Amino acid sequence: MFKVIHQIVALTERITMICDVHDMVAFLDRDGTIIEEKDFIKSPDEIEFIPGSIEAIRILKKLGYKIVVISNQSGIGRGILTEKMVKEVNESFIRKLMENGALIDALYFCPHHPDDDCDCRKPKTGLIQKAAAEHKLDLEKAVVIGDKLSDLELGKNLGGKSILVLTGYGKKEWEKLQDVTIKPDFIADDLLGAVNWLMNLSNHNPN
Ligand SMILES: [Mg+2]
Ligand SMILES: [Zn+2]
Repeated sequence: MFKVIHQIVALTERITMICDVHDMVAFLDRDGTIIEEKDFIKSPDEIEFIPGSIEAIRILKKLGYKIVVISNQSGIGRGILTEKMVKEVNESFIRKLMENGALIDALYFCPHHPDDDCDCRKPKTGLIQKAAAEHKLDLEKAVVIGDKLSDLELGKNLGGKSILVLTGYGKKEWEKLQDVTIKPDFIADDLLGAVNWLMNLSNHNPN
């Protein structure tokens, strides 16, 4: 009996290892990508999901992606938001997603002012390194989706794919693309468009 249990445990560990290796991860921006950009979101009532973004998260999950939201919340460092406000907004954001069957694996935010020179404000990879350690993520298969050049640069810094969405600041950022060396792998109208592109790429059917 003990031997059988031992074998099952060993097998489970092997399956977990195999799954870990094959897990893809999507790092999603919050404001302007999943929910409407409103400069500094102070309270849960200001959360407004961009049409299709909840469905996009559900599809990503079905495709086997781990989903980690990475958000710069410099409003804290600027004295416009408190950490408590941001946490309340995040909790409500995650709860609303869950209620709609769209589970995310984690959410991390940088509270610092751009001048603080922290290592966690996008495009720096501090939060991603933290997420990778805490959730055993394989960064080689990472995709970053966001509405700002800093999101694209983050993708480049990771050596993964990046997709610019034209929601939020996306259209303004898109105009800047010709002046910079960072090029996204794809430009999508919105998060759902980005996920559809990934779906075609992987040739998977989420159903
Ligand atoms: Mg954004
Ligand atoms: Zn930071």
